[in-house]
Amino acid sequence: MPSRTSYVGRFAPSPTGPLHLGSLACAMASWVDARAHEGTWLVRIEDIDPPRDIPGADRLILELLAAYGMTSDRAVVWQHDRNERYEEIFNDLKDRHLVYGCACTRGEIFAADAQLGLARGVYPGTCRNGTQGRPPRAWRFAATSDPVSFVDRWCGLQTQNVEKETGDFVVRRADGLWAYQLAVVIDDADAGITDVVRGQDLLDNTPRQMLLQRAIGAASPRYMHIPLVTDAHGDKLSKQRKAAAATSEDRLGTLDALWVHLGFERIGADNVNAFWQEAINQWKERWCSI
Ligand code: GLU
Repeated sequence: MPSRTSYVGRFAPSPTGPLHLGSLACAMASWVDARAHEGTWLVRIEDIDPPRDIPGADRLILELLAAYGMTSDRAVVWQHDRNERYEEIFNDLKDRHLVYGCACTRGEIFAADAQLGLARGVYPGTCRNGTQGRPPRAWRFAATSDPVSFVDRWCGLQTQNVEKETGDFVVRRADGLWAYQLAVVIDDADAGITDVVRGQDLLDNTPRQMLLQRAIGAASPRYMHIPLVTDAHGDKLSKQRKAAAATSEDRLGTLDALWVHLGFERIGADNVNAFWQEAINQWKERWCSI
């Protein structure tokens, strides 16, 4: 469908397993938001973590999306094809001294946190002024201390002091792999993404991504973080917890269940196309002026 607006959205699954209902809810919300804005919708396979990626999961994800009527308006992007681009931006950040090598192990970071009274895992800035001759392991972005604020379309005003709450964060991991934060920001910027719709598990990652966007001169998209689907114990569904894969059986029942999860009433359509038509209308009414 040709786009009639400048809206560009995306769904960016990691192929660490097949989609579960939580990830399908994210696909649904980003797809329906793009359609309601008469925009463009892209799929990007975030396969930058070979130790965690499952061979063939990308194909299963794309097939399941297609079975539900969601197909990318542009060629699907795989992050493994984008290494050179990440390297180029990383080198630029390095030249500008916005990232630095860090020699700390996880154990050393936790020990320093305990000593300094910081929350466990916050990077205390140990290597900001050099590694004292130790070889660098990971590379970190030097966070600024001014609070980052944005208005999330679902969750409202968010403010975070990245330096205090996260500390300088990793952009290239100790195993040499690119960190999600760096790759996602470069890919969203290069694709001209205007709107990110994804799960609330990533809400607190957004300020880090906004700092990186500023550093590379990219505009920040609008954000909407939707509620997570939880299991009977109230735990977030996740591939790591081996949440059941979503299937293409009973597509209408699944679509209605996800629609209710997104705060609407069951549509009870006769077919998938009719479901989407009605869903897009309802979404437009509720969300398109926000
Ligand atoms: N690849 C991430 C995931 O599957 C999502 C990234 C994003 O939407 O920014 O959790």
